[in-house]
Amino acid sequence: MDGPTAGSAGRWLAVERLCMAVRPVVDVLARAAPRLAVAVVVLQLASGLITTGVLLASAAAINALLAHALNAERLRAALPAMIFLAVAFTIKLALDALTTRVRAELSPRVHRIAQAQLLEASLKVELAAFDDPSFYDQLHRARDRGVMHMETATDSLVDALAALVGVAGAALALFWLDPVLLPVLAVALLPQAWGAFAVARLHMASMPETVSLNRQVDMMIELATDRDNAPEIRSYQAQDYVSAEYARSADAMQAHLVQLGVAEARVRTLGSVLSALGVAFTFGVLGWLLWTDRLPLAAAGATLFAVRTAGQALERLMQVGSSLFEKGLYLADYRAFIEQAAQRQRPLAGAQAAAIPALIELDRVGFHYAGRRDDPALRDISLSIRAGETIAFVGENGSGKTTLAKLIAGLYQPAEGHIRWDGTDIRDIDPRSLADRIAMVLQRPVRWPRSASHNVRVGRHARVDPGDTALKQAASDSRAQEVIDRLPQGWDTLLSRTFRGGVDLSGGQWQRLAVARGLFRDAPLVIWDEPTAPLDARAEHAVFESLRQLARNRTVILITHRLASVRNADRIFFLERGRLVEQGRHEDLLAADGRYAELYKLQTRLHALEAASTA
Ligand code: ADP
Repeated sequence: MDGPTAGSAGRWLAVERLCMAVRPVVDVLARAAPRLAVAVVVLQLASGLITTGVLLASAAAINALLAHALNAERLRAALPAMIFLAVAFTIKLALDALTTRVRAELSPRVHRIAQAQLLEASLKVELAAFDDPSFYDQLHRARDRGVMHMETATDSLVDALAALVGVAGAALALFWLDPVLLPVLAVALLPQAWGAFAVARLHMASMPETVSLNRQVDMMIELATDRDNAPEIRSYQAQDYVSAEYARSADAMQAHLVQLGVAEARVRTLGSVLSALGVAFTFGVLGWLLWTDRLPLAAAGATLFAVRTAGQALERLMQVGSSLFEKGLYLADYRAFIEQAAQRQRPLAGAQAAAIPALIELDRVGFHYAGRRDDPALRDISLSIRAGETIAFVGENGSGKTTLAKLIAGLYQPAEGHIRWDGTDIRDIDPRSLADRIAMVLQRPVRWPRSASHNVRVGRHARVDPGDTALKQAASDSRAQEVIDRLPQGWDTLLSRTFRGGVDLSGGQWQRLAVARGLFRDAPLVIWDEPTAPLDARAEHAVFESLRQLARNRTVILITHRLASVRNADRIFFLERGRLVEQGRHEDLLAADGRYAELYKLQTRLHALEAASTA
C-alpha cells in the first residue's frame, strides 16, 4: 500500500497528468473551433441548470401531491411543477440535440487541425532534427497516436464537462432544498469516487509498460504485413522467427493485461462494497432526518434521486477522467513535439541568393551528426566552386561526400567554419531562396505515390510548362521517356501499388524519373549524389551525356565512388574519413600518385577483370 506521502504524491501526479492531457486538447480546440467549444460549454452549463430545475421541480411536485387529501386538489397543486418538468424535459431534449450537432462538427475539426499542425511542424523542421533519435521518436509517437487521441480526448473532455455539470447540478439542487443534504451527497459519493479514482491510478501506473509492450507487438505486426519486407522474410524462411518474436511480445502483453484486469476487478469490487455502504449511510441519515421531522418526505425523495443522478454522472466523470489519463502520455508527446519542432525551425528570412551564384566558398568547415560529436562526419574542409564548373566529390563509402553536398545546399548547418555564397554566409541567406537555386538528385529519391508526370513536375511544381515542352525535354534527356512509353497510361499512370490501378517501377526506372525531376527543376546549381548507381550501363551512359549538356551553363557537383565517371570534371575533391585529402584534375591526381591514383588503378583493374569475365 502507498504511504501517506506516496499516496498524495500519486494523487498530485494524477492531477498533473490530467492537466497534461487537457492542455493540448484545449490548445487545439482554441485553434480548431473556439466558437463551437464555447457553444458546447454554454450548452452543458444550461443542461446542468436544467438538472437542478428538474430535481427541485420533482421535489415540489411530490410535496404538492402529498400535501393535499383530495386527488383534484393534489393535481391542481402539483400542476405548475409538472408543467415546469415537461418544459424542462423538452428543453433538455433540445439542448442534447444541439450538443450532438455541435459535437459532430467539433471532433473532425480538431482532428484536422491536430493533423495539419503535425504536418506543418514536420515539414518546417530543419533536416538535422530527423537525425536526432529522440526527436524522431517523438515525431512518430505524435503522428501515430497523438493525433488520434487528440480527437477522442476532445470527446472525453466534453463528456467530462457534462458529467461535472451533472454532479454540480445535483449538488446545487440539494443545497437549495436543505444545505445539510450536501454533506450527505458527498458521503454517499465518496466511496464510489475513491473506487473509480483507484482504477484510474492503476491504469496510469501500468501505462509505460503497456505502451512499451504495445510498441513491440506493433513492430512485429508491421514487419509481417509490410509489402517491402515480404520477399526477404520468405526467401530467408523467417516466418517462424517472426511468429516466435511476435508470440514473445504478445504473451508478455497478454500477461500484463490480465494482471492489470485482475487488479482492477479487485479494486472495483472493493469500490462497489464501499459504494453500497455509502448508499446505506444515505438511507440511514435520511431516515433519521425524516424521523426527527427535520426533512419533508418530498426532499428525502429528491435526495435519493439526486444521489442517483450525481452517482451516474460521477461514474461517467471517472471513466472519461481515466481515459484522459491514458491519453495524457500521448497528448503530452504531441504537445512536446509541436513545441520542439517550433524551436527547430530555421527562420524563413535573410538575404536573397544571386540568381546564378558566382562563387561558393567553404572555409574550414566541420560537421557532426546529432549525438556523434566525437566522430565528426567532416573536418576542416576548405574549397571553392565557381559558376559553370563541374566538380566531383569522390572517396570511399562513408567518407563524407553526401554530407558535404548537403551542407553546401544549406540542408545542414556547419558546426564549425563558414559556407559562403558570393561572400554571404548561408546562415544569412533565406533558406527558400537558397533551395530555389539548387536541383538535387539523391541516392534514394522520393517515390511520389502520384502519376508519372507528377513525379517529374514536382521538381518545380509551380513551373509553367505550355505544351509539356520542358517535361518532354527532361524525360528525353534522362531517358525516362522509355520508362513512360511502357506504362499502361503513359504519363498519367499512377506510380504506387498501394492504390488500385497503380504500378510500381524498378529501382533503375525510379532513378530515371528522379533524374528527369532534377532536370525539370532547371536550377543553376545541380547536385548529383550517385544518381546512376541503380542504372544499367546504357542508361548510365545516357545520363552522363545529358549531364554534359546540362553542365554547359550550370554548376554541377557530382558525387560518386566510381572514378571513371568523373574523369572530365574540372576539379576532383578526394575525401577520406571526413577530410579533404587531395584535389585537382584527373590527370594531376594520377600524376600525384596519391590516394586517388591508388583507388583509380584499383577500380580500372576491377573493371578490366569484369570485362574479361563477361567477354
Ligand atoms: P558518403 O556520401 O561519402 O558515403 P556520408 O556523407 O553519407 O558519406 O557519411 C559520412 C559519415 O556520416 C559516415 O560515417 C556516416 O555513417 C555518417 N552519417 C551519414 N548520415 C548520417 C546520419 N543521418 N546520422 C548519423 N550519421 C550519419
